[in-house]
Amino acid sequence: MKSKKLIAANWKQNGNYKLLSKLVDGIIKKQKLLKISNDILLLPPSPYLEFIYEKLKKSKSNKIISLGVQNISPYEEGAYTGEISINMINDFKCTYTLVGHSERRHIFKEDNQIIAMKVYQSLKARKKTIICVGETLKEYNKKLTKQVIQQQIKTAFSKSLNLITPNKKNIIIAYEPVWAIGSGKSASINDITNVHDFIRTKMNKIANDKSKSIKIIYGGSVNPKNTNSILKTPNVDGVLVGGASLNLKKFIDICCAI
Ligand code: PEP
Repeated sequence: MKSKKLIAANWKQNGNYKLLSKLVDGIIKKQKLLKISNDILLLPPSPYLEFIYEKLKKSKSNKIISLGVQNISPYEEGAYTGEISINMINDFKCTYTLVGHSERRHIFKEDNQIIAMKVYQSLKARKKTIICVGETLKEYNKKLTKQVIQQQIKTAFSKSLNLITPNKKNIIIAYEPVWAIGSGKSASINDITNVHDFIRTKMNKIANDKSKSIKIIYGGSVNPKNTNSILKTPNVDGVLVGGASLNLKKFIDICCAI
């Protein structure tokens, strides 16, 4: 049987009620019409979680199309102005969280320790947790990719190894080279193969027999043309899509690429 791929739409800080309504309605309609069997995940800006959840529920699509948050607070509750805790997210029936996105790491200066705290909050709340890792262009050029990713992974799980739950398939690692995000230049199949194999080997060492349940997905300038070859690469269990997920036709083509 063909294994399902995870196709995640990261809408970042884009859209408004009108645009996101149109996108969600279109995805629900096309998913049914085309009988898309891959797992679709929507990561909208947080204020729109509730209305999107209601749309998914009303159309009975909430079993096929999942909902997640783009970011969570590293703290449980308290005096952290502007932050959204995992318990608040629980009220919006999100099944997934995204942590350690390169925009959080580089624009908002979140380091590996903060990301480890977020991973802990997310796994403790039994969320499927997407942990983003990836090197900058400078690191890539200096051939430091594996070193950087090894450190990102090791620290991310430093507080949470015992929370990896194989039967819940609660860990997804997203390899997103910083230089490929939003640049229109995705990593080569060769680089994706090498890094995903490396992540798989590292996770085998860190999590032993629990590691088989871990998915590894790729993100960085994924588009309808390159998705098929990326998803056919061994150890690639899905894609995380930014820019192209804001265009209904492109996103649906990506969902149907394999
Ligand atoms: C992302 O933000 O996770 C991403 C992969 O963006 P893009 O597809 O636009 O490169």
